[in-house]
Amino acid sequence: MTFLRLLFRNRLAAMGAVVLVAILILVLITPLLPLQNPDTTATADRFQKPFSDGHLLGTDHLGRDLLSRLLHGTRLSLAVGIAAAVIAATIGSAIGIVAGYFGGRIDNVIMRVVDMLMAFPYILLALAIVAALGPGLMNALIAVAAVNVPFFARNIRGITVGLAGREFIDAARLAGMGHTRIILTELLPNVLPVIIIAMSTTVGWMILETAGLSFLGLGSQPPQADLGSMLGEARSALISHPHTSVVPGIMIFLIVMSINLLGDGVRDALDPRLRSGALSRPLPTTLVDRQGDIPAATDDLLAIQNLQTQFHVGKRIYRAVGGVSLAVKPGECLGVIGESGSGKSVTALSVMGLVASPPGVITGGAVRFQGHDLIGARYETLRQKRGDRVAYIFQDPLSTLHPLYRVGRQLAEAIQSHHKVSSAEARTRAISLLKDVRIPNAESRVDNYPHEMSGGMRQRVGIAMALANEPDVIIADEPTTALDVTVQAQILSLLYDLRRDRGLAIIFITHDFGVVAQLCDRVAVMYAGRIVEEGPTDAVLEAPAHPYTKRLIACVPELGGGRRALAAIPGLPPVVDDLPPGCAFAPRCAKVQDACRTQEVTLAGAAPRAVRCLFPEEAL
Ligand code: ADP
Ligand code: MG
Repeated sequence: MTFLRLLFRNRLAAMGAVVLVAILILVLITPLLPLQNPDTTATADRFQKPFSDGHLLGTDHLGRDLLSRLLHGTRLSLAVGIAAAVIAATIGSAIGIVAGYFGGRIDNVIMRVVDMLMAFPYILLALAIVAALGPGLMNALIAVAAVNVPFFARNIRGITVGLAGREFIDAARLAGMGHTRIILTELLPNVLPVIIIAMSTTVGWMILETAGLSFLGLGSQPPQADLGSMLGEARSALISHPHTSVVPGIMIFLIVMSINLLGDGVRDALDPRLRSGALSRPLPTTLVDRQGDIPAATDDLLAIQNLQTQFHVGKRIYRAVGGVSLAVKPGECLGVIGESGSGKSVTALSVMGLVASPPGVITGGAVRFQGHDLIGARYETLRQKRGDRVAYIFQDPLSTLHPLYRVGRQLAEAIQSHHKVSSAEARTRAISLLKDVRIPNAESRVDNYPHEMSGGMRQRVGIAMALANEPDVIIADEPTTALDVTVQAQILSLLYDLRRDRGLAIIFITHDFGVVAQLCDRVAVMYAGRIVEEGPTDAVLEAPAHPYTKRLIACVPELGGGRRALAAIPGLPPVVDDLPPGCAFAPRCAKVQDACRTQEVTLAGAAPRAVRCLFPEEAL
């Protein structure tokens, strides 16, 4: 159903669908309509104009009723075109799947044959086939289907090759499935959308080709009418009696246009990447629609002040960040901790306007870098600071590095997009950056592709890239979550040194209190888009005030800590489009009281400690 909704949101596709359905209905009921026999000639009534007595669209050179011929002809043309498309898609896809799935010699032989077919000009090949088989509508159908088989075979083979090496196919093999079963149950469902898309975008073309063959007299034979032969017969009267060619011409135009518009719509609606974004590309910066006062400037290096970021999806409003304030000074490391989904990434991305809009909207607060508000700043201003003054390190370096460029080239690009330096200089700088992040053999590693490096090394390249322009602030969003513990320790000590040596301010996002304890001076605990506790790391670790913080700390295993039950927090974080009134943690809190569920709870305490709880574990 979402498919149909998406499809009809595309106006052109909807228009195409309406026209096509109208034509289809018309040709389906043609035999029931009170029409004259399309083949009855009446030489006395030759070339009647449209709207003449008894002939709504006039007559042709043999006095046959054009309306009747048009509807019967359309019926035939559509049937042949669609049949050809189905045949070509079935045979072509089967060939493509077999070639792509089995690979090796089978693939080679099949594909070379397909290549040979493709080497002939399209129409010439069709003409040759019809010439060999003899003229006739059935043979035209075979010819059109045959010349389109290679197109499907190539397309589907490409997709299949990509899928055949994937883990779920290996898993199916391991489960003992046979080839046929794997092809039918694992591969086919994955390539089916592609087949449908390829078909919907080529049906129109095949109808045209059939019409073309009929136009040349190789398709439907007189007196049988299809759109192509109608055009062909009207050719000689094109100037004297244009209506005889205009009528079938308009019909061909309508059919092909509507099928193509609909086909494009189907393609877009079936593409899962376009689906979530509802066919819209994100804006270059996050949409800003601020309500309320804008907080005044402070003397922090980077200050996030009462930031509110929401996602507007349909009628739903997800309050991913509900008034978060954080600040860092030069050389300081601030930890931001919370369960998955608590709004850490959205907070971080809001700083540089990187939250995708739509659906993201910043609805309140400010983000000040050296006192200047970045929210609602011009795109150029943001772009200048992105990666230069404020840099990011993301969780998964494999998805942030471009797979097709060498890492040195990507580092150089990061430098050259902000500074005018020669390529040689940028390369030298890239090598020294790799050395800074302690990549051994930096001189040769600089020419590696991302896939030639280990996960830890790639993450170091990510850090090197963040350092490329000597930023003032680095926002690290779970940079060690994808790494094993030993590599994590190396990365953390690297960040620690950089901070000490260069006076870097770091906002370090994680869900692991152990990491915070190693690296951060201060920590802020987030829950459901809000800060529930903050303070110096030691103080928070020693005496957590919020029940949530206490439970989070209890989740960290301790070496040599003796036998202790690791306590998971029961329940799940709330969905942020429907937060409970009062404390968001109340439903999972062991100490919950009635007041927690009704009363708005504020962040209170003696700076730098603060807690958002009515009944804190420790008095601050
Ligand atoms: P995390 O703390 O794990 O980094 P995020 O900041 O990524 O969490 O997400 C915070 C909340 O925002 C989550 O509840 C998530 O469901 C919601 N969210 C994130 N992106 C979108 C989006 N594009 N549309 C709707 N909700 C979103
Ligand atoms: Mg995240």
